[in-house]
Amino acid sequence: MPVEDTTMLFDRSRKSSGTVVNVNGVEIGGKQLVVMAGPCAVESRDQILETAHAVHRSGARILRGGAYKPRTSPYNFRGLKEEGLQYLAEARDETGLPVVTEIMDARHLDIVCRYADILQVGSRNMQNFTLLEELGRLQIPVLLKRGMSATIEEFLCAAEYILSGGNQEVILCERGIRTYETASRNTLDLNAVPILKRRTHLPVIVDPSHGTGYSWMVPHLARAAVAVGADGLIVEVHRAPNEALSDATQSLSPDEFDEMMKTLGPIAEAVGREIDHLEPAI
Ligand code: PEP
Ligand code: MN
Repeated sequence: MPVEDTTMLFDRSRKSSGTVVNVNGVEIGGKQLVVMAGPCAVESRDQILETAHAVHRSGARILRGGAYKPRTSPYNFRGLKEEGLQYLAEARDETGLPVVTEIMDARHLDIVCRYADILQVGSRNMQNFTLLEELGRLQIPVLLKRGMSATIEEFLCAAEYILSGGNQEVILCERGIRTYETASRNTLDLNAVPILKRRTHLPVIVDPSHGTGYSWMVPHLARAAVAVGADGLIVEVHRAPNEALSDATQSLSPDEFDEMMKTLGPIAEAVGREIDHLEPAI
C-alpha cells in the first residue's frame, strides 16, 4: 500500500525548494549538476591517484571508489578495506575532490567515517534497516542506492529511516532494477527520476554504469539522465578497464569519460542546469 507522503519527512511539501546537500562546498541538488566518478574499487594507491586526477580534469566534482566491496562470489576481489580508504583520502588531499565510498556494515562506521565525505549504501543494503538507523544518527551525507528489486515506494521508505533518525543529508541514486531483460545488466529506470523529483525534496542522481553494465551504453544513458532531470551522475572510470578487478565491462577509460563529459553541457543547458565541463564536443 502506498505510504501517505505528507506524513513522511521525504515529502516534497516539506521543502519545496529542494534539499541541497553540501559536501565540502560541492552542492548536490542545486543548479549545478554534480558528477561523481572513479573506479568501482580502489585497487592500488597509484590507480586511485591517477584516476582521481583524470576525472578531476574532466569535470568530476566527487571521487568514487569502493574499499569494502559487496561481491556476488566471496572468492572475488572484495576491496582493500582500510588501506583503500587511506588511498582515497590521499587522492582527496591531492585533488580536493570529496570522497564517496560504500559502507557495508555498521561495524565499519567508525573507520569509514574517518576517511569518507559521503557514505554510499549499496543496492544490496537498501533495506538493511539497522544500518539505515545507524546512519540516521550521524550527520554525514548518505548516498542511498535503490535496491535492485525495490519499488520506488520501498526506496523512499528506506530514505525515511535515515531522515527519521535526524540525518537530513540523503541523496537518492537510481542504479537500475532487475527485470526480465537480459540484454543489459540492469534496466535503468529513468521513470524513477521525475517520479522521485515530484515526490521528494531529496536530490536524485543516476548511475548509468550499474544501470547498463556496458561501457558503450554509459554515455547514452548519462545524457538521458541529465535530460530527464537528474541532479547528478555517478560513473565508473578505470585507467585500464580491461584490467579492472570489478565491473570491467561497464567502466569507462579516462578518455571515454572526458568525451562523455563534453557532451553533457548542452543537454544540461537545455534543461536549465549547468555542468562544469566546458566545451561541447564537435
Ligand atoms: C558500486 O557502486 O560499485 C556498487 C556495488 O553499486 P550497487 O550497490 O548499485 O550495485
Ligand atoms: Mn561497481
